[in-house]
Amino acid sequence: MLRSALLAASRSDAVRELVERTPLTRPVVRRFISGDDVDAAVATTGELVADGRYVTLDHLGEDTRDADQAAATVEAYLDLLRRLELAGHTGRAEVSVKLSAVGQFLPEDGEKIALDNARRICAAAGAVGTTVTLDMEDHTTTDSTLGILRELRVDFPWVGAVLQAYLKRTEQDCRDLAGPGSRVRLCKGAYKEPASVAFQDKTEVDLSYVRCLKVLMAGRGYPMVASHDPRLIAIARELASGRSKDSYEFQMLYGIRPDEQRRLAAEGHRMRVYVPYGDQWYGYFMRRLAERPANVAFFLRSLVTT
Ligand code: FAD
Repeated sequence: MLRSALLAASRSDAVRELVERTPLTRPVVRRFISGDDVDAAVATTGELVADGRYVTLDHLGEDTRDADQAAATVEAYLDLLRRLELAGHTGRAEVSVKLSAVGQFLPEDGEKIALDNARRICAAAGAVGTTVTLDMEDHTTTDSTLGILRELRVDFPWVGAVLQAYLKRTEQDCRDLAGPGSRVRLCKGAYKEPASVAFQDKTEVDLSYVRCLKVLMAGRGYPMVASHDPRLIAIARELASGRSKDSYEFQMLYGIRPDEQRRLAAEGHRMRVYVPYGDQWYGYFMRRLAERPANVAFFLRSLVTT
């Protein structure tokens, strides 16, 4: 119930204005978001890289209906990639891009604009020696996102995809994307989805995650295990036991289970942290609250006690 309400609120302009205008929200937001600008993003990257972690950076923003805003997002990524190169981080830091932030939902030629914009980001990433992963949004975008991925991979074969275990289609998508050179981030899925397309029960989602993980780990691609769930991490380690440690990686979100992140990195695993930055944090922040009721209590407590 709470999860559904928070996910519905994540798409409400009225609730967004309320939450954004509350100054006391800021300290809680900072637990999950590195900062408002590229300086903060590069500084956070430096700290994570210094203790052996890898990074993927997300310039926050999504669902844009404005071509200028989409173009500004592309510029922000190009600037970020220049800054990462200057700081010497491109060996360990890549970028994550939401296609809806670069034009996918624009009323005219949205998909083509998103493809062209993503192409510019990929070209810039390739030029500085790093990679791009396309985030996955709600199920209405899955076909479009995988179509754009296919087009991008013709010129940039290293572009990564995200697949969501809560979708019933995902096991088949994993089979389609388990080939050589393919990079797939497997996560549970963070959006509110109908029962017609997605498992609703937590156990069913976990079982689907394991089935998908088996396909990816048995395949010839590069699986990226994105979860904070201790049981799934243990299963992933088991399934990866025949693989070399540079042929897969673990991924977690900035601010969540940092001790476990450090522990996996110290054991010699590739551990990549998803670091969001920017001022359009609302949708991302609400999805993090929805994932864990304790976060809502933490948020409410900080409003009362700060
Ligand atoms: P859960 O069962 O939700 O959590 C397991 C445990 O992890 C919890 O018991 C708790 O200890 C801890 N935990 C999990 N979430 C939180 C939290 N918010 N706050 C505090 N503790 C927490 N989803 C998409 O739909 N599209 C994407 O492109 C996408 N990219 C992602 C990239 C990365 C690197 C990661 C790690 C996740 C991404 N997600 C994405 C989110 C994902 O789908 C899940 O919603 C999220 O990871 C929670 O699922 P879980 O596997 O951690 O398991």
